[in-house]
Amino acid sequence: MSVALFGGTFNPIHLGHLRIAVELAELLGVDSLRMLPCSLPPHREALSVSAEQRMAMLQLAVADYPQLVADDIELQRGGATYTIDTLRQVRQQIGADVPLYLCIGIDVLITLDSWQEWRQLTNHCHLVVSARPNYVLPTSGVLADWINQHRCDDLPQLKQCSAGKLFLCDTTRLAISSTQIRDKIKHSDTIDFLTPAAVVNYIHQQNLYE
Ligand code: ATP
Repeated sequence: MSVALFGGTFNPIHLGHLRIAVELAELLGVDSLRMLPCSLPPHREALSVSAEQRMAMLQLAVADYPQLVADDIELQRGGATYTIDTLRQVRQQIGADVPLYLCIGIDVLITLDSWQEWRQLTNHCHLVVSARPNYVLPTSGVLADWINQHRCDDLPQLKQCSAGKLFLCDTTRLAISSTQIRDKIKHSDTIDFLTPAAVVNYIHQQNLYE
């Protein structure tokens, strides 16, 4: 058994997220890849859609993919989302020996040193980092050093231990972002083929992002 977590705002979920989610589930050979919408501070949520609506869109998007699971663990906990708390909670559920992967995009990796207890993350999981257009790894500084210390390019070796390493993978680079989708809706442009049709319909039915 092994488990992967893929956190995000998912505001809204899009094909960039979904394509890397299915690729990573396959590559890592996990039983489930759990997609975790994060809580937003009340002032950000007031400007945006509700947590329930973000979750509903995620559920519509993964409905036909049994390997992808919409998981509201961070919404249930409420308050500010600290990934380190989620990792501790999931570790308690699955035990110490099961490989646990935290999937992030490279845009997130390059800001990792601003996260709560960021150096402790790899005590609980491996980090699996997807490429994204227009982002590169830092070449110097404290984060660059930390990445080099933890980096492992040998996937079978990664799968043999439960946590501690960082794996960079060349997943499909789709230049799609939630920001782009929100902007297109504001300008009354189509969002077809940027997110699944069920999500497009939900967004229009609920008049989101207008
Ligand atoms: P926004 O435009 O609102 O900042 P986003 O499109 O970056 O949103 P998030 O929900 O913030 O989406 O991202 C969740 C996770 O998915 C992050 O780890 C991010 O790096 C990754 N991600 C988002 N879009 C892509 C993409 N097109 N390709 C690869 N990874 C992506």
